[in-house]
Amino acid sequence: MDYICPTCGKAMPRDLLMMISHTEGHVVGAIKKKHPEWAESDGVCKKCYLYYKDQMKKKNK
Ligand SMILES: [Zn+2]
Repeated sequence: MDYICPTCGKAMPRDLLMMISHTEGHVVGAIKKKHPEWAESDGVCKKCYLYYKDQMKKKNK
């Protein structure tokens, strides 16, 4: 069964699933702002992870 990314809704192989560790709370916060129903344990796809991580970088500049 493919994994469906909760934040972009795309189906993908489970090996692309990223679990965000608590050390990256800022990334978790950015995702939760856009997707309040999302939980860390749901994970995100690599693409979304990199997207939200990139968003944080832009804001910090
Ligand atoms: Zn995604």
